[in-house]
Amino acid sequence: PVRTRFAPSPTGYLHLGGARTALYSWAFARHFGGTFVLRIEDTDLERSTPEAVQAIIDGMAWLGLTHDEGPFYQMKRMDRYREVIAQMLEAGTAYHCYSSPEEVQAMRDRATAAGEKPRYDGTWRPEEGKVLPAIPEGRKPVVRFKNPLDGEVSWNDFVKGTITIGNKELDDLVIARPDGTPTYNFCVAIDDLDMEISHVLRGDDHVNNTPRQINILRAIGAPLPEYGHLPMILGSDGQKMSKRKDAVNVMQYPAEGYLPEAILNYLARLGWSHGDDEVFTMEQVCAWFDGTHLSNSAAQFNIEKLNWLNNHYIKQADNERLAALALPRMQANGAVLEGAPALPAVLALMKERVNTVNELADAAMLFFRTPQPDAALLAQHLTDAVKPALTQFAERCKTVEWSKEALSAMMKEVLAANGLKMPQMAMPLRLLITGQLQTPAIDAVLQIFGRDTVLARLAALG
Ligand code: GLU
Repeated sequence: PVRTRFAPSPTGYLHLGGARTALYSWAFARHFGGTFVLRIEDTDLERSTPEAVQAIIDGMAWLGLTHDEGPFYQMKRMDRYREVIAQMLEAGTAYHCYSSPEEVQAMRDRATAAGEKPRYDGTWRPEEGKVLPAIPEGRKPVVRFKNPLDGEVSWNDFVKGTITIGNKELDDLVIARPDGTPTYNFCVAIDDLDMEISHVLRGDDHVNNTPRQINILRAIGAPLPEYGHLPMILGSDGQKMSKRKDAVNVMQYPAEGYLPEAILNYLARLGWSHGDDEVFTMEQVCAWFDGTHLSNSAAQFNIEKLNWLNNHYIKQADNERLAALALPRMQANGAVLEGAPALPAVLALMKERVNTVNELADAAMLFFRTPQPDAALLAQHLTDAVKPALTQFAERCKTVEWSKEALSAMMKEVLAANGLKMPQMAMPLRLLITGQLQTPAIDAVLQIFGRDTVLARLAALG
């Protein structure tokens, strides 16, 4: 059965790259009717925080990437790691190494000086017929993995194709520190084994860890998962993503008024393709995401593309939902809700051209504040030639059927009767009713405000 996992280290927020890894692992599991596991890799005690765990869980919940199992915490699995380390020492696939950190550094320096990769020189590695040095008094050993000396590690990466590393490139990895705590690559290998992970999808910053994890799994006779390493996401400037230039924290996006389906769609397409499709639902992604068509080159973040998608999903979104999202921001900006039009109807009118829900909320404020038209502007538009027409218009507003069509027809009649063109009346109307010149179509604006408000605001005409 297909079992995938997302295994973040809780050292900060959920970033876009992590969210994409989570999405792909989730979609892959869904595609094959498998299981998606959440694992928190919290063994770095200095950098891991409960807030970061919560931020990851919140970010995934916001995106709707629900896990089927977990969260599992590595810190709660220490007994299990110690058990495997003991078994490996027993089996001879790992050994105690008493070299001091200074001695190991000296070995690495010697290798570097000889033009080789810095490595542990195997002083404490047991071999047939080899006599090990005397154990230095009072020194606590690390445990090292007995990496094969010859041969190679090769796997068919489903993003990058076949990757082969010679075992000569790998030295004997420390798998437990002097205090017995297990190290990173070891924990990951044992977790993937115990959680029966069939497919590991992760960032390609982990490519160098994979041969080490494979060797550990092989040494304990474990089956190997398949691996796929995703290229990183570059910032909009083509450089490594940085929070200075782009929003890297996933939870920044709801704060800025992005819908989760836009982020998901954007991330799905950022490193994976399905023909020429740019817009897809998560049902479609799950139906199509089978581990093929993953791009092997770094993708570049593009805010215009994301904005385009967000606009697309805002246009499709239910207006009640948009209202719930927009309301807090509008209230913070002093929206007057009493006697105001229904927010969903306003948003329906305003949502065509906005990139974000925040833009939408700001645009909608038009309907939720007392208009204070600029006097000079009003004087400029409310000319003596226009005034009588507006008075007639106000009068007819008392009885006209309150629909966009009827309002529009009535306005045309008033215009014709007064020999005016549409803007001559629409501009002062906009100012009187909304306080500004930029609004959606005037008939729609009037219709949404309703008869009472329109009459009240035109009462100033006398
Ligand atoms: N904890 C690692 C990270 O956050 C991921 C490890 C893995 O996926 O194997 O980068």
